[in-house]
Amino acid sequence: MTIYNLGSINADHFYAVPHLPGAGETLAAMTLATGLGGKGANQSVAAARAGADVVHIGAVGPDGGWAVDRLAQYGVGTERIARIGTPTGHAIICVDPAGENQIILYPGANCALTSDQLTVLDAAGPGDWLMLQNETNLQQEAAERARANGVKTAYSGAPFDVAAVQAMLPHTDLLLLNAVEARQLAQALGLVVGDLPVSQIVVTKGADGAEWHGTGSGETVSIPACPVVPVDTTGAGDTFAGYMVAGLSQGLVPEAALRLASAAAAIKVTRAGTADAIPARDEVDTFLAG
Ligand code: ATP
Repeated sequence: MTIYNLGSINADHFYAVPHLPGAGETLAAMTLATGLGGKGANQSVAAARAGADVVHIGAVGPDGGWAVDRLAQYGVGTERIARIGTPTGHAIICVDPAGENQIILYPGANCALTSDQLTVLDAAGPGDWLMLQNETNLQQEAAERARANGVKTAYSGAPFDVAAVQAMLPHTDLLLLNAVEARQLAQALGLVVGDLPVSQIVVTKGADGAEWHGTGSGETVSIPACPVVPVDTTGAGDTFAGYMVAGLSQGLVPEAALRLASAAAAIKVTRAGTADAIPARDEVDTFLAG
C-alpha cells in the first residue's frame, strides 16, 4: 500500500526578534534557524516515519535540493518532486520572546505543479491513499484522478479557506480539520460536524484530544490527548495527519489509528521544530506501551 502526498515543501526560516516588527520598521534578528517545513513535507515525513511507503508529489526550485535530500533521509519517495525554475516555497517566521509569531508565506514552486506530475496516480489502486492540503495547486485534479482508480483521499483543510474546503468535499474520503476549522466549516454549511458530506472526519482539538466521525454509520470515537509538557506545537496537526493516514493504510481501526496519531503528535509537541521534530514509529510504540 502506498500513500501519495500532493504537498508543499518549504524552508522554514525562524528569526528570533526582540519584538514583532511594526509598519516601516527595520529590525535586526538575534538568531536564525532554518528547517524543513510546509504542511505537505511535514505530513510525508510523519507518514514515512510511521512506517508507510510514501511518494511525495511536489516541486522545489533551484534552491530546494537540500529539502528533497532531507525528505529522502526520512524515507519519503522523492522521485515525483519536480525541480523547476520557480524558487522553493518558504516561510519567514518571526518569533518574539513571548513566543508570539508573525509569518510571511511564499508559496513559490508549491503552486507551480503540472498535470504530468500526476501520472504516477494512474498506477495507484484500492488500498492506496492520496493525501492533500491547501498549499499546492492541482488538488481537485489529483483527487479525481486518484479516486477514479479506487484510491482513498485524505484532505487537510488547512490553511483554512471555506470556499476551497467546500470545493474539495466532493473529492474527499477522510477530512482532517482542527476544532476551529471544523466549527467554521460546519457553521458555513449550516450542519453539525458529524453530518459534513464526507465518509470520515477527524477533528483534532489540541490538548483536548481528537475525535473521528464515521458519517455513514453515525459512529464517533473520541480520545484524550496524551499528557505532555508542550514546548512547541507547530506541526502537531501534520504529525497527527501523517500518522493517522499511515495507521489506516496499515489496516488499523479508527480508534487505534487515533491513538497512534495522538501519541506521535504528543511527542512532537515536546520538541522544537517541524518536520525534523516528528518522531519515528519505534519511539511512538514505546511511548504508547509506557
Ligand atoms: P498545528 O497547526 O499547530 O500543527 P493543529 O491546530 O492542526 O496544529 P491541534 O489540534 O492543535 O492541531 O493538535 C493536533 C494534535 O496534536 C491534537 O489532537 C493532539 O493529539 C496533539 N496535541 C496538540 N497539542 C497538544 C498538547 N498540548 N498536549 C498533548 N497533545 C497535543
